Amino acid sequence: MINLKELNLGTSIKCTCEQCKGTGIYKGFAEKDNLGVICHHCNGKGYQVLNLENDHKLYQNEEDLIIYHTKQNIISKVVHLFTKKQTRDDIDYVIYEVGRYLSPTWLLENGADEYQVIRYQNFLNGGYPLPLKDYTCPLHISQCYGEEEFYNDCDLGLPSQCQKYGEDECWDKFYNGAITIKEKQLVLKNLK
Ligand SMILES: [Zn+2]
Repeated sequence: MINLKELNLGTSIKCTCEQCKGTGIYKGFAEKDNLGVICHHCNGKGYQVLNLENDHKLYQNEEDLIIYHTKQNIISKVVHLFTKKQTRDDIDYVIYEVGRYLSPTWLLENGADEYQVIRYQNFLNGGYPLPLKDYTCPLHISQCYGEEEFYNDCDLGLPSQCQKYGEDECWDKFYNGAITIKEKQLVLKNLK
């Protein structure tokens, strides 16, 4: 017999991102050594916001604290409430995805700066890396991380075929007037 208790947590809740287990960091086969990339699913936050509508309810199993999300009394998913960002012990550096593996040490020796390849501790303190301009473009970043695609008359659709790839004018448009590192980080945080 399962002991379920209905929870009333308002109209939206933060659920732990399943993809990165609440860490905000993705580390796959391509991310070797001590490198992690910002998680695509939550854009580094470690959670997703679930909006609860009228016919949605949350029930918690009192034994194991698992929470069931129901729609019209049918369980639609199991969610885990997000309490805080989880940490990992196999990461020293964090970057935004570039579509291939580049070692952090190599990047730092070859033109990337400390704002693009950030220390993991900096990320845990709320810092965000800036995308590596030499290896990615705003369209790619918005396709990977954004809720809306960045529009920049990129007719070709694929960044790798774009004539403007790597141009400052694209980044200027993407950052929309943000000048300082902090302002740019805010633009990135707000992608999703
Ligand atoms: Zn995630």
